Amino acid sequence: MFKAIGLVALALLLATMPCAVHAQGSAMEEIGSKAAKEAMAQLGFQSGDKDILALTNAGHAIVEGQTTQAALKGLTEASGCSVGDGNLLQVLRPYWKPLWFYFFDKETGEAIFLQADNRAVGMSAQKLASLPADQAFTRITRANVDLDYMLNHTDEGNATFQGAFGGNEFTLVGMSNVWAQPGSSFDFLQATAFHDHLCPGVTSGYMLAKFVEGKLPIEDISAQSYRVIACPQWCKDDLLQMRWDATPGKSSMFVMALSDAEKSALRARYNQSDVAGIYIRWNQTAKQGDALVLGFNWTRARELDGSADFKGPSWAAKLVEDVRLMEYWNQPQLVVSVIKEFEVDSERLALLQSAGVHPLKVAGVM
Ligand SMILES: [Zn+2]
Repeated sequence: MFKAIGLVALALLLATMPCAVHAQGSAMEEIGSKAAKEAMAQLGFQSGDKDILALTNAGHAIVEGQTTQAALKGLTEASGCSVGDGNLLQVLRPYWKPLWFYFFDKETGEAIFLQADNRAVGMSAQKLASLPADQAFTRITRANVDLDYMLNHTDEGNATFQGAFGGNEFTLVGMSNVWAQPGSSFDFLQATAFHDHLCPGVTSGYMLAKFVEGKLPIEDISAQSYRVIACPQWCKDDLLQMRWDATPGKSSMFVMALSDAEKSALRARYNQSDVAGIYIRWNQTAKQGDALVLGFNWTRARELDGSADFKGPSWAAKLVEDVRLMEYWNQPQLVVSVIKEFEVDSERLALLQSAGVHPLKVAGVM
């Protein structure tokens, strides 16, 4: 009996605890929680709603010398959005950029952007908790970012793309619209978060990756890995770094530019395909690899996604491509072609990677 009363008393005490618990958390945690609660109030969703996507640069931003990962904890606890559910992504930004939060409801297309006030994170958690949202955030903006809606209401789309989300419009609208599609996938979105935004260039990286994986699959996971001579570089290479752990720091990717004259000469030579780099499946045990020089045909890609004769607003062209190219993610052969195949040994690999040597000349394609 006493035990039961004790439990009831404990339950009552816990029910009144949230404020006390928050007071013990950090202001950084509170700012994430506050952003989520404001989004829930304005967009009208409950914690755990799987139709909600949260995007933020928390964890990358450093505010007044403080790292910001605790804001992720507050955001997840309040909104239920989590990496595990695939509806929380950390978008890469340099650490000095302002801390921001964004929530998107795929059911309605409505989104809200909140930019934290640096002074707020310097307060005590308790003081911050009692502060009205418009004093904790320097910007709270709402817009409908559903691509079809925006194309039908171009005045609203124009207004959104005039800086409504603090310069993050292309990133946030693109990621939201692709995430909302049934065919969306976490690995792709995670790579776009690393790239900073979702553009057709990252999509081309996804298709190039799938093409290479089909033609030169990794069969020996302890000995084989992919090496990339990113010549020329474009947005594709950030996806490849993340997907294959092919980073420059570990000598898995070497990045080299081409001049405009070189690019157009190559395009003329290879049936209007852009040379998209050299891809090597390298065997570290055998010190031997298989290399592919690949082309990516942007003209064909724009025919497929219907953007070749796109007449809509300029901010929409790449977004339309982002969404429509999803249909072709698993058909890379429609736009990717093999320009040359060859084998490499350690000596040739070293040559392809060396400064002062033109890798496409070493490969014999120019
Ligand atoms: Zn890009």
